[in-house]
Amino acid sequence: MPRISRRTAELGTENAFVVLAEVNELARQGKDIVSFCIGQPDFPTPANVQEAAIRAIREGKHGYTPSAGINELREAAARYMGTVRGIEIRPEDVVVGAGAKPFIAYAILSVTDYGVGDEVIYPNPGFPIYESQIQVCGAVPVPLPLREARDFAFDPEDLQARITPRTRLLILNSPHNPTGGILGKRDLEGIAAILRRHPQVWIYADEIYSRLVYEGAFVSIASLPGMLERTIISDGASKTWAMTGWRIGFASNPVLAPQFVRWVTNTDSCASQISQWAAVEAIQGPQDDAEAMRRSFLARRDLIVALLNGVPGVSCRTPGGAFYAWPNVTEACRMIGAADSEDFRKRLLNEAGVAVLADIHFGARVAGEGQHVRFSYAASREAIEAGIARMADFIRRNTVRAA
Ligand code: PMP
Repeated sequence: MPRISRRTAELGTENAFVVLAEVNELARQGKDIVSFCIGQPDFPTPANVQEAAIRAIREGKHGYTPSAGINELREAAARYMGTVRGIEIRPEDVVVGAGAKPFIAYAILSVTDYGVGDEVIYPNPGFPIYESQIQVCGAVPVPLPLREARDFAFDPEDLQARITPRTRLLILNSPHNPTGGILGKRDLEGIAAILRRHPQVWIYADEIYSRLVYEGAFVSIASLPGMLERTIISDGASKTWAMTGWRIGFASNPVLAPQFVRWVTNTDSCASQISQWAAVEAIQGPQDDAEAMRRSFLARRDLIVALLNGVPGVSCRTPGGAFYAWPNVTEACRMIGAADSEDFRKRLLNEAGVAVLADIHFGARVAGEGQHVRFSYAASREAIEAGIARMADFIRRNTVRAA
C-alpha cells in the first residue's frame, strides 16, 4: 500500500462531528436522543436571502468569481464589518471565503513558517481547528488557559507569560466557542497594552459570533488604538443569518488580504457565486430575522442557564454571547462516580439520551479548572426543558451515597 503522510495521519478534527456520528447511530437504533451537540442556528436562512440565491441562479450567476469575491459583497462586507466594530474597513482589504473557517488556516499559513519554531497562541478550551491547523501548518501550538473565575476570559498575565520572540500570531475568539465567554472592552485594552510591547505578533480575531452578544455592545480588538493594521478580522454569514451550509465568510486585513486572495486561488478558487449574492442580500436586506434569532437565543440562554443551575452538582456561569453554555460538572461527576467529563458525557448520552460535548473535545483540560461539558442551546425550548430534566434525573438516580 502507498503510505499516507504523517501530516494527514496526525490531522485533528472537530469532535462535534465524531459525537454526532455516535448520536446518529443511537438514533438509528431507535433511541430517543435530545441533542445539544451542533453549533449552528436551528432556523432556516431568511426568506429574502433564499430568494436572492434563486434570483442569482435564474440570472445565470453560475461561474467563477474573482478569488477575493464579487465586488458587491466585498463592499457590503467592508461596510458591515466596519459598522459593527466602529472602524473604517476598505473593500479592497476584505476577502470572501467558503466560510470563515478557511481563514484560520490561511492566516496561520501566511504568518508562520513550517518547522522553524514559529509559535501561535490560542484559547484553551477553544475551537479545535485552531490547534489542528497550527500543528499541521508546522507551527508550535501555545495554549492560553481560560479562567472560569473570569467568565472564561484569560488572565492577561497568562498571555504575557506565553509571548516569546518566536510568537507570530495570537488567536482571539469573542464571543467564544465553546464557553460563550466574551472579551469585554477592559479585557481587550489589557491585551492591546501587552501586544503594543510585542510588535511582531499578528492577531486573528475570530468574530464569527459578533452579532450574538447579549449584554452591552460587541467590541473588537481591531477598534483599539494601533490594533487595526495587525488584526485579521474574521466574520461571516453562518451564524448571523443561519447560513452555515451556504459557506460564506469574510476576513479583512490591509496587509494580508492580497495573501489570502492567493491562498483562495490555491484552494477553493472562490466561494460559491450563488452564495455570495445571497450574502449581499443577507447584509443589505432587512435584519428582522437576524434580530429575532438573536432574541430567541437570548431567551433560551436564560432558560438553559437557570435550569442547569438547578441540576444537582452543576453550576453554570451566564455566557455573554454565542449559543453555548459551559457548565461546570466537577461535582456531578463526583456524585455519580464518573471518572471525568468525558465519562460523564458518555453516560449522559447512553443512559439518559442527552447528547453534549465534553471539554476534552476543545483541547486538553486546563489544570485546576475542573470538568465541563458544552451545551449548544440552538435547540427548541421543549428540547432544553426535556434535556435538562433528563440530566437532573440521571444525576439523582445515579448519585452514589456514601456508606
Ligand atoms: N470559528 C468558530 C469559533 C466557530 O465556532 C465556527 C463554526 N463552528 C467557525 C469559526 C467557522 O464558521 P464558518 O466556516 O461556518 O463560517
